[in-house]
Amino acid sequence: MPTIATVPSTAKPSPNFNAEAATNAWMAEIPAASKAHSDAYFEGGYWLILWDFLYGVAVSLLLLQLGWSAAMRDLAERITRFRWLQTLFYLGEYIPLTAILTFPLTVYEGFFREHRYGLATQTFGPWMGDQFKALLVNLVLGAIIGLLLLSVVRRFRGTWWIWGSLVSLLFVVFVGLVGPVYLTPIFNTVTKLEDPKVTGPILRLARANGIPAKDVYEIDASRQTTRMSANVSGLGGTMRITLNDNLLKRGSPEEILSVMGHEMGHYVLNHVYKALLFSSVVIFLAFAWIRWSLDWSLMRWGAKWRVRDIADPAIVPLVLLLGSLFVFVLTPVLNTYVRTAEYEADMYGLNASRQPDGFAQGAIHLGEYRKMKPGPIEEWIFFDHPSGYNRIYAAMRWKAENLQTPGAN
Ligand SMILES: [Zn+2]
Repeated sequence: MPTIATVPSTAKPSPNFNAEAATNAWMAEIPAASKAHSDAYFEGGYWLILWDFLYGVAVSLLLLQLGWSAAMRDLAERITRFRWLQTLFYLGEYIPLTAILTFPLTVYEGFFREHRYGLATQTFGPWMGDQFKALLVNLVLGAIIGLLLLSVVRRFRGTWWIWGSLVSLLFVVFVGLVGPVYLTPIFNTVTKLEDPKVTGPILRLARANGIPAKDVYEIDASRQTTRMSANVSGLGGTMRITLNDNLLKRGSPEEILSVMGHEMGHYVLNHVYKALLFSSVVIFLAFAWIRWSLDWSLMRWGAKWRVRDIADPAIVPLVLLLGSLFVFVLTPVLNTYVRTAEYEADMYGLNASRQPDGFAQGAIHLGEYRKMKPGPIEEWIFFDHPSGYNRIYAAMRWKAENLQTPGAN
């Protein structure tokens, strides 16, 4: 097990302890080359948001303009006369075709770029294997939601967008329920953590915070990546806290405990359920936008694209184009919602674990793939977690105020 967090001298308790100076001392622990490296990686990610969006739009427009979407529908109609089967056949053509058309960007982003920055651990073969599995998962999930939404559209011609948002929300809940139990094991092995030296302090922390956890789970994330992380996943009975093996291998005991405090914060503060509530608003607005913009687009280009009406499966690329535009514009809002919850979990975790130095060390480890000190607007737009600098500062502020607490440090 790695040794105890090494605390820079300025960040050690002293009568003239200063949160800002302590934060800067932690920041100075990061070698300049590492900082430049992770800044470049993360800033490149800003552009990828734009390129992913534009590339997706281009693929959708291509399928519509060239009449490929209508041709896939025609083929489905020749195969069967059952409408639900036609939808299924259409999706069976559409999902693999778009996976092929977007493959150049997928392989750059998910394979070459990750290797260039030293974050990937897979060779090309196993990576392709994972891509293939993901395609099969997408086919099954895409078929379920596609069939449901198109039958809603056919049944409720005027109010489909209201029922559609409800069905989509239930679908999100469904994926949340089955995800940790059935989807995660397709890509990784999840095991119960057995080492009492690791689980003892974690389970004590859980019990102290009213969490009825008997087990902590470990995932072999090192199969794909060098990133350290942990998460709370699932809903109701499937909810669980999982640490990844990179964190277990490289994190100090204090760091692991501070990360677990953060994850327990998500649990105790009911972040999963609050996120669902927030999602229901976002999904409802997305459907309102899609309903309006679909009618508008079909009036203009429906005949040219040979998309008959909103109940025609050939409309799928247009729906996804309009949906991706909505998400793209909303990026800062969605990031800010998540980041705000993450900050709450940070505060909870500091109070629960009482490990400000472990937390600072964790922020530096996460800084291997996140920019440590962005500008305030940059953080607002692009960050779905508080920046490393702000996380260390929060920990040092906590430490400064708790130096007077009996029993602390
Ligand atoms: Zn979190």
